[in-house]
Amino acid sequence: MPDHARAGLPWRTPEGSRRRAAARSPAVWLPRRAPARACWAGARVGLCGVASAMGIRAGFRGGCPGGLPAAGGRARPYDGGVSLYRDEGVVLRTQKLGEADRIITILTRRTGKVRGVAKGVRRTMSRFGARLEPFSHVDLQLHSGRSLDVITQVETLHPYGEAIVADYARYTAGTAMLETADRLTAGEKEPALRQFLLLVGGLRTLAEGSHEARLVLDAFFLRSLAVAGYAPALSECARCGAEATRAFAIAAGGVVCGSCRPAGAAVPAAETIALMIALLRGDWAAADASEPRHRAECSGLVAAYLQWHLEHGIRSLRHVEREWPGQMIGGEARVT
Ligand SMILES: [Zn+2]
Repeated sequence: MPDHARAGLPWRTPEGSRRRAAARSPAVWLPRRAPARACWAGARVGLCGVASAMGIRAGFRGGCPGGLPAAGGRARPYDGGVSLYRDEGVVLRTQKLGEADRIITILTRRTGKVRGVAKGVRRTMSRFGARLEPFSHVDLQLHSGRSLDVITQVETLHPYGEAIVADYARYTAGTAMLETADRLTAGEKEPALRQFLLLVGGLRTLAEGSHEARLVLDAFFLRSLAVAGYAPALSECARCGAEATRAFAIAAGGVVCGSCRPAGAAVPAAETIALMIALLRGDWAAADASEPRHRAECSGLVAAYLQWHLEHGIRSLRHVEREWPGQMIGGEARVT
């Protein structure tokens, strides 16, 4: 991995959180005279009550039938003390925990944002290998915990990180995408399917390298804002709805007409607004044909607009290589 990839964001390690996580081991239902077998998911012997009740041995990969009738055919509701679930997701960030573990933050398709503990992932011989690195699109199996879930199985679906980390422009754009997706999905386990699909699509496009990284990033920003309900007005005045627009005012919510224009609003080229519309709609033919100066102006406006809508700036935007237009747009928008 290149050095710039190692220089990740400075995630802090909460002291003692490993002990707390251990103390939070969820209560489990154990059948009477449970056979001493290991759960297929790697849980300690006898931990997974349903699996052991059904005589499932270690290594079985068909899924733990939590809540299904136990051995003997009598329907017995699973008490939910330990529940297993499977989902696919994109690794947003990782955080060291204790000596060998990591907390992995993942945006999943069905469950939303999840924080899971990957035990022993930092050991050389970890069974997870390098599958839980940022940008990876993975299939996961998790044990629900009271606070943090425990990742028990990982399979790589698409290792987008390989192609993204190898190129500095893609890496910085990708890092900003992960951070934005993390910020726009504030609550854990609140399904965010559209944001997930946007992120997977954005990382795939970035990894393929078929479009300039900056355009991919701006398209992702604009669409993420639209998904979050903050789509900028681009074709008519954000205040009065007039069609003739002259300026771009971040606080007003997009382009504004001559009479609604507040003091200090930026006046971008018409081609810049056209590029923003193309990126929002996914019109790549038009976006790829745009001129560098309009791309630069578009990046400045989109970054300023995004940061205005988030409480704190996107830190990784500082690393995104940007050529800024002559004037500064918006307070903390200048990230060079
Ligand atoms: Zn107006």
